Amino acid sequence: MTKADKHYIEDAIATRAIHAGQEPDALTGAVSTPIYMTSTFKQDGVGGLRGGYDYSRSVNPTRTSFDEQLAAVEGADYAMSFSSGLAAIDVLLRSTMKPGDNILIGNDVYGGTYRLLSKVFVPWGVGLDVVDTTDPSAVNTALAAKSYKYIWVETPSNPLLGITDIALTAQLAHEHGTKVVVDNTFASPVLQHPLVDGADAVVYSTTKYIGGHSDVVGGAVLTNDSQVADQVAFLQNSAGAVPSPFDSWLDIRGLKTLDLRVRRHSANALKIAEWLETRPEVERVWYPGLESHPGHEVAARQMHGGFGGMVSVQLAGGPEAANRFASSTRLFTLAESLGGVESLIEVPAAMTHASVSGTTLEVPANLVRLSIGIENADDLIVDLAQALDDLSA
Ligand SMILES: *Cc1c(COP(=O)(O)O)cnc(C)c1O
Repeated sequence: MTKADKHYIEDAIATRAIHAGQEPDALTGAVSTPIYMTSTFKQDGVGGLRGGYDYSRSVNPTRTSFDEQLAAVEGADYAMSFSSGLAAIDVLLRSTMKPGDNILIGNDVYGGTYRLLSKVFVPWGVGLDVVDTTDPSAVNTALAAKSYKYIWVETPSNPLLGITDIALTAQLAHEHGTKVVVDNTFASPVLQHPLVDGADAVVYSTTKYIGGHSDVVGGAVLTNDSQVADQVAFLQNSAGAVPSPFDSWLDIRGLKTLDLRVRRHSANALKIAEWLETRPEVERVWYPGLESHPGHEVAARQMHGGFGGMVSVQLAGGPEAANRFASSTRLFTLAESLGGVESLIEVPAAMTHASVSGTTLEVPANLVRLSIGIENADDLIVDLAQALDDLSA
């Protein structure tokens, strides 16, 4: 079975998530990877390292276990985990770009990614341009106009769930000598496989679906390119944004059940999106699993086993209705973030995307974003129904 094999890519993820990097502890047979809460390791004589372990900024066995597990689930040659998604993004870009290089990003990327690029990388001397990555001809025109080191793709994007064709983008980018990074946080490695589709690197905020329980902040960079992996590992160790052993253990525990959870998130989200389309208080539902979504056909081809757990709605009653709706649910918790077992609700313009207000990434003020959890879907619908009823009360 090779990494391009359909069974390896789709069906066997659940098996690898349980077993890869999870050998029982050699000393005690502990089945669950121990949390090696140690900063340093005894050397057997000067330079006599046991298993290559010297100092936990450089390497820690719990982190190694997660990196091996995640690499296997993704089907990547290299995975390196970080203390946050943004730390992963920062180290990937800072270790492989230099002042004078250009980067082209989608117009609907995570607000924190845009802030990092526009407020830190641009003053450092990196050129930043924005394009609608869901439009291949716009991408092609932009790539032809300037030399870009990277095109940065998020699909589904946040918060409008825009769908970019990864394989087509990779083909266009490579014709222009540009590399493709996919932020695969929303789809997770269960539903979408950017490296197989031609991307050069994948990043995650493991804070979301991979951790999956809203109890850890983390990130990761994955690639099949050994040179990029070396550059990322060097800056990771030099700058030090590493996850703690306990963070790594929470990510390991989350990743083991990712396949089950993401399938349930997706099934719940589809059911709720279809129901939301029937409600008069809702002006528009954004969910790639709906035929009404402009990216549905590409998503159906590119995503495997579901369309993810994120649904956004625009309310007919405007920003006021959006604020009121998001404040009157009982099961859905009003909070930023996403991808945990519990359902969350938020108003992007005022919360997660406040930092992009007034930029080309600004989002509609009547938009509400739902992170659909793995509760019973009918209970979630009852909750949303009472909150929507409340708007016309
Ligand atoms: C949350 C998020 C990030 C940033 O990750 P942190 O773990 O919060 O640093 C990056 N990209 C996407 C798509 C996200 O949702």
